[in-house]
Amino acid sequence: MAILVSACLLGENCKWDGGNNRNEPVIAFCAGREVIPVCPEVAGGLPVSRQPSEIRDSRVVARDGTDVDAAFRLGAEKCLALCEGKPVGCAILKARSPSCGKDCVYDGSFSGVLVRGDGVFAALLKEHGIPVFTENETKEAETVLCNR
Ligand code: SF4
Repeated sequence: MAILVSACLLGENCKWDGGNNRNEPVIAFCAGREVIPVCPEVAGGLPVSRQPSEIRDSRVVARDGTDVDAAFRLGAEKCLALCEGKPVGCAILKARSPSCGKDCVYDGSFSGVLVRGDGVFAALLKEHGIPVFTENETKEAETVLCNR
């Protein structure tokens, strides 16, 4: 079974500031598995680098106030389409991102405040029954993969 992984966790420089979130435990988890790397924000047509964004009143807005919701949703749909015809066991996504965050995201005030909620891509995967984990939950992901 394939696994979807936030590309920035694998060391790809696709973060808003041009950097990455390379994560060694995630890379170790991916070893020997079929990995589908995804960056929904880049897939949606946003550049590297770009303004940081957060979810406010159910829409994604950039720090300068630009509404980037459509690009986020398009990117999420495109990344989901990469799974077509492939059984996907789970996704390992970057915590707190407005695209990839699971269960917890920034509140739209750009002041570091977290609230309950999912990023746009994480929410879409959940809607399609794909289990989502953060980079801090590889043990839980392992358990789910063993049982699928
Ligand atoms: S959209 Fe996801 S994969 Fe892309 S940089 Fe943000 S957290 Fe990483």
